[in-house]
Amino acid sequence: QCQTPDDVMRVISEKGITFIDLKFSDPFGQWQHLTIPTHEFGLHSFEEGIPFDGSSIRGWKGIQESDMLLIPDPKSAFIDPFINEPTLSLICDVVDPITKEPYSRDTRQIAKKALEFLRSTGIGDIAYFGPEAEFFIFDDIRFSTGPNHAFYQIDSEEAWWNTSREENPNLGYKIPFKRGYFPVSPLDKTHDIRMEMVKTLEEVGITVEREHHEVATAGQGEINFRFSDIIGSGDNILKYKYVLRNVGYRFGKFVTFMPKPIAGDNGSGMHVHFSIWRNGENLFAGNSYAGLSEIALYAIGGIIKHARAICAFSNPTTNSYHRLVPGYEAPVRLAYSARNRSAAIRIPLGSQSPKAKRIEVRFPDPSSNPYLTFTALLMAAIDGIENRIHPGEPLDKDIYSLPPEELANVPQTPGSLQEAIDALKEDKEFLLKGGVMDEDFINMWIETKQAEVDAIRLVPHPKEFELYFDV
Ligand code: GLU
Ligand code: MG
Ligand code: MG
Repeated sequence: QCQTPDDVMRVISEKGITFIDLKFSDPFGQWQHLTIPTHEFGLHSFEEGIPFDGSSIRGWKGIQESDMLLIPDPKSAFIDPFINEPTLSLICDVVDPITKEPYSRDTRQIAKKALEFLRSTGIGDIAYFGPEAEFFIFDDIRFSTGPNHAFYQIDSEEAWWNTSREENPNLGYKIPFKRGYFPVSPLDKTHDIRMEMVKTLEEVGITVEREHHEVATAGQGEINFRFSDIIGSGDNILKYKYVLRNVGYRFGKFVTFMPKPIAGDNGSGMHVHFSIWRNGENLFAGNSYAGLSEIALYAIGGIIKHARAICAFSNPTTNSYHRLVPGYEAPVRLAYSARNRSAAIRIPLGSQSPKAKRIEVRFPDPSSNPYLTFTALLMAAIDGIENRIHPGEPLDKDIYSLPPEELANVPQTPGSLQEAIDALKEDKEFLLKGGVMDEDFINMWIETKQAEVDAIRLVPHPKEFELYFDV
């Protein structure tokens, strides 16, 4: 792993690198890239940056100055396994060419500012994030909007195997409904693909801890890797999506991080394990509920208080809200618990060592930009700690089966992207603190997301043909 610009230059000459691929995230967490031959790149590039026109990048349209600079991060260097030429990839920050200030809509630098803000409060000096992004592997997805067709038809060996259930009850080796977690092959039909994903992740510097099939029947999977700080884990999620999509594509498959591709089966979450540290000490470990500290409880209090606004970032698609419904291990209630997978925040009991003490935030999903999801969680936690927001009593019961009376006072996750946007409009102060996000960025976000809500609202849904065609 490279640390300095000199290290990068050494790798370039030792490995015979001919191209440099400069990658950066757009506001929605999608990597964009620009490639230059090695002779155009040198030590000076780390100082001066590489100019490019940022005006056509989605969400950056508002900028007056379209000329931007990419500043490569030497620590992010990896040899790109999906480019035939020997190519070194570098993840970049985006800065203003005149002031050299971070571009305020560059989400990687928003995450950096969140970490600086944590330090400025004196609460902690680092926050660790361990995201777990689930995904589906499909063979093909065909869209059809005609009244007599399914809206989409998902074609995958496993999906076919399993949706053929009714017609062909005696087909062998199919995964029974919701039993994808996790029988061996030949029921597990995507194992070799996931193994190739793991190998490639390790090649590009991600330390994998485990991989497995997930609960949903149609090729759902999860690969877990080592936790890191806010930038490390943000970079890793974008790298993870890049690797998984490209490995899948090379097998002729399509990997999707869409939160709920199949009605009636589990969706894909991106649970986030999270803790705050100071001087090498985990501030979340203590003697309160489930081995948590008071600080951890306040962090939970802040996250629960602001959760509906956080969802505008952590669950940023209209599809996200098809996942946050009862019955599929996704949370619907903004409560915390040491046991309960139906609660928004779970405290894993796995390891009793204070170093491992953390909270697992379960509502985020992998359609989100990880830099923004982590930033929103960290800012809400800081707000909870600063204002000593107690989260109330834990809810150690299966929330899906509780009677309505017992849930009367437990707030819910938003029912739609519209609700999440509306919540963000009313509750954004905690994100503006320390200049971490600014009004301009939040307004751009709200406008873009409102346009998505409106676009969907204008389209008759196929289910409506079933319900209303004959009215
Ligand atoms: N797929 C579930 C979700 O949507 C989570 C399953 C699990 O606990 O890993 O969050
Ligand atoms: Mg999982
Ligand atoms: Mg989990």
